[in-house]
Amino acid sequence: MKEVLLIKNGELALKGLNRSTFEDMLVKNIRRRLLASVGKFQFTKSQSTIIAEPVDEDIDFEEAVETLKKIFGIAAFSRAAIAEKDFDSIKDVALEYLGDELRGVKTFKVNAKRSDKKFPMTSPEICREIGAHLLRNIKTLSVDVHNPDIIVTVEVRDKNVFIHGNQIKGAGGMPVGSAGRVALLVSGGIDSPVAGWMMAKRGLQLNAIHFAAPPYTSKRAEMKVHDLVSIVAKYSGRVNFAVVNFTEIQETIKEKCPEELFTIIMRRLMMKIAIRIAQRDGCGALVTGESLGQVASQTLGAIACTDAVSDMPVFRPLIGMDKDEIITISRKIGAFETSILPYEDCCTVFTPKHPRTRPTLELIEKAESAVDFSEMIDRAVESTRFMFVD
Ligand code: ATP
Ligand code: MG
Repeated sequence: MKEVLLIKNGELALKGLNRSTFEDMLVKNIRRRLLASVGKFQFTKSQSTIIAEPVDEDIDFEEAVETLKKIFGIAAFSRAAIAEKDFDSIKDVALEYLGDELRGVKTFKVNAKRSDKKFPMTSPEICREIGAHLLRNIKTLSVDVHNPDIIVTVEVRDKNVFIHGNQIKGAGGMPVGSAGRVALLVSGGIDSPVAGWMMAKRGLQLNAIHFAAPPYTSKRAEMKVHDLVSIVAKYSGRVNFAVVNFTEIQETIKEKCPEELFTIIMRRLMMKIAIRIAQRDGCGALVTGESLGQVASQTLGAIACTDAVSDMPVFRPLIGMDKDEIITISRKIGAFETSILPYEDCCTVFTPKHPRTRPTLELIEKAESAVDFSEMIDRAVESTRFMFVD
C-alpha cells in the first residue's frame, strides 16, 4: 500500500499575495529536512494541502513524522494511504490501513471530503458506507459523531483518494527564512536556546554567536553550546555558528573597571562585537534569552544600558516569561537536559559579588572611557571562528 504525507500549512493562509512565496519556502524546507532525515519526496500543492509522496523506497514514515513535527509553518499533517478512485478500493484500503489503529480504540466517525465532484458517490454516502464497512469488520467499534477517538477521513481528490486517521499537530509558526535572519547570542544556559527556537518559529533564520573565554572556560563548555545550537537547528534548519574569543576583554574589564559594573560592561561589549558579526552576515536583529528581573543584568535599568550600545533591534522573546514557563519549552524542544549540564560560562567566571542593579549610563560610560577597548574589539571580531551547525 502506498503512503503519503498530507501537510496543512498554518498562518500562511492569512498572508494574501505572499502566500505562494511562503508556500514555496515551506516546501523547500520540508524537502530539505525530509531528505536529511529519511529520504527523497516529491511535492504537489492542492487546495491548501501539500502532498509529499516518497520517491525513495522504504521510507521510514515514523521518522518522517518526527521530522515534520519540528518544521515551522505546518499547522497539522497526517500520514495517509492512497486508494484508487473506486469504492471497493476505498473500503479495502480503509480497513487495511487503519484496521489495527481502530481495533485499539472504542469509537470513530468517518469524515469525507470530495473535491472531485464527478466522483459518483456524495460525501454523506461515502461516510455511511465506509462507516458500515468498518463496523461490520471490527466488532469492538462504535460510532460517536461528537467525540470520537479516531476520525477516519476520506479525501476524494483529482487523481487519487487519500485515507487517513487523526491529524497530527504541527509546530505552527511561519516557515524559517520567510522573515529574514537574526543573530542569537547563545550561552550554555536554559534561556537562550529557547529564545532562538521562539524566533525561528516566527520565520527567522538563525545565526548564533557564543563568547568563550579560554582557558577560564573549557573546550567541553564550548561543545555543550555547540550541542545546544544543534538542538535548535533541528527546528530552525542550519545555523551559522560563530565562537568569539572574549578572554582579553574580560581580563581587561576585571583589571580596569569597577567590580560592581563588570557584568553590565561585559554585556555592552558583547553587544558591540555581536553587532559587528551580525551585520557582516546580513542579520537584521540580535536575539537574547533575557527575562526581566531574572538576574541583576536583566533589570529594566541594566537592559536600557545594554541597549544603548545597539544600533540594531534586540529581540528578547522571553522578557515576560517566568523561569518555569521557559523550562517547559526547554523540555519540549529537547534542550533542557543539555542546558543543565554543569559547565562554566564566561559570564559566571567573572561574576562580581555585588553587581549594581541600577546602573546609570553616565557611570558606565565613565568607567568604560578609562580603557580603550576598540582594538580589543577588532581583535575579538577577527579571532572569531565560524562553523555550520545542522
Ligand atoms: P541563559 O540561560 O541563556 O544562559 P541566563 O539566565 O544565564 O541566560 P545571562 O547569563 O545573564 O542569563 O545571559 C543573558 C543572555 O545573554 C543569554 O540568554 C544570552 O542571550 C546572552 N549571553 C550570556 N552569556 C553569553 C555568552 N557566553 N555568549 C553569548 N551570549 C551570551
Ligand atoms: Mg547564562
